[in-house]
Amino acid sequence: MKQVPKVIFGRGSFKKLSEVISTYRDDGYIIFFIDHAHKKTGLVDLLPSDKNDLTFVIDTTSHEPKTDQVDLLRDEILKTKNQELPGLIIGIGGGSTMDISKAVSIMLTNEGSSRLYQGWDLVKKPPITKMGIPTLSGAGTEASRTTVLSATDKKYGINSDQSMFNIVMMDPDLLENVPDDQKFFTGMDCYIHGVEASEGSYINTFGSAYAKQSLELCTKVFLKEGGTNDDLMVASYLGGASVTNSEAGVVHAMSYGISLVLGYRHGLANCIVFRQLEEFYPKHVPVFLKMLEINNIVLPENVTKGVNREEMSVMIEMTYRMARPLTSALGDNWKNILTEEKIEELYSKM
Ligand code: NAD
Ligand code: ZN
Repeated sequence: MKQVPKVIFGRGSFKKLSEVISTYRDDGYIIFFIDHAHKKTGLVDLLPSDKNDLTFVIDTTSHEPKTDQVDLLRDEILKTKNQELPGLIIGIGGGSTMDISKAVSIMLTNEGSSRLYQGWDLVKKPPITKMGIPTLSGAGTEASRTTVLSATDKKYGINSDQSMFNIVMMDPDLLENVPDDQKFFTGMDCYIHGVEASEGSYINTFGSAYAKQSLELCTKVFLKEGGTNDDLMVASYLGGASVTNSEAGVVHAMSYGISLVLGYRHGLANCIVFRQLEEFYPKHVPVFLKMLEINNIVLPENVTKGVNREEMSVMIEMTYRMARPLTSALGDNWKNILTEEKIEELYSKM
């Protein structure tokens, strides 16, 4: 079983970042990728960077990570540093910024475009050592063995042990400034990871234990039963670890289509899809509907109304690419259950 070898957890941990990374300084310069929200929170000014280090402030407002974006970052780094490789890469932010840091760590040592490595176990060479510091919890990137990137025709993960972080620092104080709706949507990604992992046939005993505890903590937060940011941060990590020991399911398979064609962000796209999937997840969709209500979240309706024939085909095709999660969720004959007509019918309800 693949695990993150070093996890630092606790309020105030971020203050020790300089000390933690000092042991990696002998291996070379350090690259920081930090979400642009932290210009406002002031975290950018607290980075323990040296003059040889590189810092990239990532604007995550307009789109989720793209293959072209990762390839350009890799090229820029190699040009700026005359092909010299860094000793450590640090990603600070939500799933987007952490995924960019993971992808660049792989692409600095593997040739060609990141598009070549989207899929399962395609990475050939060991990546640069990397560290994740979540400042938004739920995506579970900090514990997962995937790096999700969008290309023009697909949204797909680099699913590989090489996508896993070597160190993760979890400081619940860093969640303080997350807006409530963003906290909810990304938090639901966590809830859905736990649901899909535990309901999927690819689950093992480790995955089940992670999923159970993740769901319990996540529910405590979003049913407002006293859950804290500490609970949410741990739920996110365990949710990521549960998928690592199982697979995603029908929600992720269909939500990628919504994100690819309609541009909805991952957490929100998952919520739009999950609401319509009670027949596949009868125990959990009612809990989700209750969480929506308690948190005063109103989801957009009729999002697929203006979708034309060609776009619908792209969405169906995207869902069909997710054979592994769909096999875990529905069995080997998933294509007989989730026929093209059935997918279109479900999308049309969204
Ligand atoms: P995100 O990283 O896209 O961030 C969403 C918004 O929150 C951004 O505008 C960002 O600026 C803001 N933000 C982040 N931290 C903040 C803070 N502390 N204060 C205020 N604002 C803050 O959102 P996400 O939901 O964490 O990640 C979604 C991405 O993760 C998608 O690309 C999705 O495909 C990917 N994902 C990856 C995995 C994986 O295992 N690799 C799993 C699930 C999702
Ligand atoms: Zn997800």
